[in-house]
Amino acid sequence: MKAIAWMGKKSVHVSDKPVPLITDPHDAIIKVTATAICGSDLHIFVNAMPGMTKGDILGHEFMGIVQEVGPEVTKFKPGDKVVACFDLGCGQCFYCKRGLWSCCQVTNPSKEQEAMYGDRTAGMHGYSAMTGAYEGGQAEYARVIFADVNLLKVPNDAADEKYLFLSDILPTAWHATELGEVSEGDTVAIWGAGPVGILAAHCAAARGAKRIIMVDNQTYRLDFATSKIPGLETVNFGEKKVMETLKEMTGGHGPDVAIEAVGFHYCKSWTHAIETALMLETDPSEMLNEMIVSVRKGGRISIVGVYAGFTNHFNIGAFMEKQLTMRGGQTPVQKYWHDLKTLIDKGVLDPTMVLTHTLPLDQGPEGYKIFNDKTDGCVKVVLKPQL
Ligand code: NAD
Ligand code: ZN
Repeated sequence: MKAIAWMGKKSVHVSDKPVPLITDPHDAIIKVTATAICGSDLHIFVNAMPGMTKGDILGHEFMGIVQEVGPEVTKFKPGDKVVACFDLGCGQCFYCKRGLWSCCQVTNPSKEQEAMYGDRTAGMHGYSAMTGAYEGGQAEYARVIFADVNLLKVPNDAADEKYLFLSDILPTAWHATELGEVSEGDTVAIWGAGPVGILAAHCAAARGAKRIIMVDNQTYRLDFATSKIPGLETVNFGEKKVMETLKEMTGGHGPDVAIEAVGFHYCKSWTHAIETALMLETDPSEMLNEMIVSVRKGGRISIVGVYAGFTNHFNIGAFMEKQLTMRGGQTPVQKYWHDLKTLIDKGVLDPTMVLTHTLPLDQGPEGYKIFNDKTDGCVKVVLKPQL
């Protein structure tokens, strides 16, 4: 089958790979009909995420038709149209039972992650040995473990685009607003006008936020977001100082909630990280501190941008003195996707608003390039094997 394989820094190829087989009774094999490229894939693409091996199949946002199920799968049968979630729960462990599927104790065997974090979080498709080395979904077929837990049934006659983003970015955007406890009347500032940030603005609006302010330096993305989210205000950090501007815009107080939808910039190898406790070449604390100093006293900071390692120069003083709350996490997709599907069906949410490019799977390398380089007005790319 055709699949998008990671071949090194800024290099992805369309490769010929074996069709995956059922290897556990709880598995399902999906014939992929649509799969998206995520900002999380760019962390691999640009940074050579530790634990990647040349030839690894990328992709964790995908959906398709169930081709085959193992004998223990009870909720799905061949022919069902399903969305797969990006992080993999077992459904039975201490964490899955508490709704923390993204912290599943069973699905990720990575010893390296345990050495770094003192614990392991859930396995992920297409995301290196760090999260279990499960093959990704940017392919013609994909294997999904614990299929009863990690698949969502959607109508067979619906357009793929309508539900595809339930695999990750819509639940992640919602998670960002949950962690930040976005409520009626809030002023919410969002760092990052990528697909996650724009959908976080969409979710914040649906939850009754009074003002939403988006921070980025990509003018085309700020303009795109403004065209999609009524009343959105923007700060271009290439032109203005973020902290001062946000204070000015909010009567000197700062926003009630700050959402981080950007992520880390550069990391080295696991060995280096574990040995030195120093991983990120660009210190992300600059942006985190911008959030800490900008948000109002008693405010909430929500981090869904992905980080893999340590940071330094974190403004713990301001964080403590200002009575702030800071929360973060990979999204427990399974916690939200049923309710979010209902909100899509009711027309309250429309995640397709971020989609700018639909390409054949064969053009995956081109998709990675425009999404990473931020050219051709690219905000979100979907790849289709059957195009
Ligand atoms: P993206 O790369 O398309 O968007 C990131 C945006 O941040 C870009 O528009 C970029 O210009 C902007 N940016 C860069 N530096 C900035 C700064 N200092 N201040 C403000 N904006 C800045 O990615 P995306 O697909 O929108 O994903 C965003 C993040 O969310 C990534 O880190 C991704 O890994 C993460 N993510 C997390 C989860 C989760 O479960 N927590 C799930 C999906 C994605
Ligand atoms: Zn993703």
